[in-house]
Amino acid sequence: MRAGLYLHVPFCRRKCPYCDFFSLPVSDPPVEEYLRALKKELELRREELEGLVFTTFYVGGGTPSLLPPWFYEELFSFLAGRLSFAPEERTLEANPEGLTPSLLKEYRLLFNRLSLGAQSFSPEGLRVLGRLHTVEQTKEAVLRAQEAGFQNLSLDLIFAWPGQTVEMLAREIEEALSLAPEHLSCYELTVEPGTPFEQAFRRGTLRKPREEEILAMFSLLWERLAAAGFEHYEISNYARPGRRCLHNLFYWRAEPYLGLGAGAASFLGGRRTKNLEDLKGYLSALEQGRRPVGEEEELDSEALFREAVVLGLRLREGVLRRELRERFGFDLAQYYAREIPFLEARGLVHWDGERLRLTARGLLLANVVFRELV
Ligand code: SF4
Repeated sequence: MRAGLYLHVPFCRRKCPYCDFFSLPVSDPPVEEYLRALKKELELRREELEGLVFTTFYVGGGTPSLLPPWFYEELFSFLAGRLSFAPEERTLEANPEGLTPSLLKEYRLLFNRLSLGAQSFSPEGLRVLGRLHTVEQTKEAVLRAQEAGFQNLSLDLIFAWPGQTVEMLAREIEEALSLAPEHLSCYELTVEPGTPFEQAFRRGTLRKPREEEILAMFSLLWERLAAAGFEHYEISNYARPGRRCLHNLFYWRAEPYLGLGAGAASFLGGRRTKNLEDLKGYLSALEQGRRPVGEEEELDSEALFREAVVLGLRLREGVLRRELRERFGFDLAQYYAREIPFLEARGLVHWDGERLRLTARGLLLANVVFRELV
């Protein structure tokens, strides 16, 4: 069975004020210690992985570009020696700062997809978001990555940051398009609990753009990126034809994936696990030969079915009744006999008796749809 492999790198130079991903600000990441721990984790989990063929590898974080190419090279050969591991898509997340031409060339020998945390093409946006890099550094990093041979490059953008207008976003989109990326991930800023942004929003020192402006931003993204030849294939993701992120499709299609590293989540054999979001705890559990699991949940077929529906609806193609019946034994129309007509009457989903998918309005109100179905 095909599966994705995710590696979490929980280190950043500095914490961005909006971010609630598990990562620690460090100046000097414990590279060798982390590599040893990952190898031990894999050894402890070998039994779970029998019969799986890993077709994608995604390194996320955190800031994976803080770790040197030799770390990944050694990990690759370790994985290849113990798993069925010859991934067709190998993604490295990176931040623009510090990506020198030689570093990019070395990464390119290992990875064939680069996901760059551009976040904004406005100096003001980068300042508000507390990013460490400049717009110029992002542009340079893209050009250098292309020169190094990356032909599959994704840019992450955050929109609806405090002070951003629709016109500003329009200019940012043009800047992003001028760099000819193959993929764009565009996320509306969310104010996460426990972050400095949450406090600033609560105090009222920061405020998001008005609701109508945010709706206009969504429309602008859809229209401009479609006109530029991008397929809007998931709520927040746009790709040139044939350039969807294969790894993330494992998540949205509720297919198996292994997550290695502190804070990484796995979904294998109907069981969700999440490693400790605590670097010391993660390292010491492995030092003592214990699995570093923080949370574990076994899902029955009904819970798996519901989850597959909600995750699958994130994709513009939606979910198929026949496929869900074959995988989980539940009939979509019967199971949601009340919810589907309710959501359809409100213009949130489109249902043709076989395929259920979000409408344009449903994309904007996806959380309302998911609440009904989860
Ligand atoms: S660099 Fe990325 S992972 Fe690190 S704190 Fe900023 S947003 Fe979060």
